[in-house]
Amino acid sequence: MTTSQTRSQSPVRAESAEHEHTWSTESRHPTSSGDVLYVRCGICGIRRVDLQSRLDTPPAPLSRMVGVASDVAR
Ligand SMILES: [Zn+2]
Repeated sequence: MTTSQTRSQSPVRAESAEHEHTWSTESRHPTSSGDVLYVRCGICGIRRVDLQSRLDTPPAPLSRMVGVASDVAR
């Protein structure tokens, strides 16, 4: 007698179910403030517009933190 207490999988609701959107870029449009990305979820198909700033790295501080004797993080 194997009573496996597996949680019954909730039926997958195609569109309104909570899921982690899998955004895939459909198109990219460079603007003055960065790249505007038109992304679409491959699961539910909703679209979203992202703005990706050109600097994908955080702004470099002009001066290093004083007191931190560490190498430059690369
Ligand atoms: Zn989705």
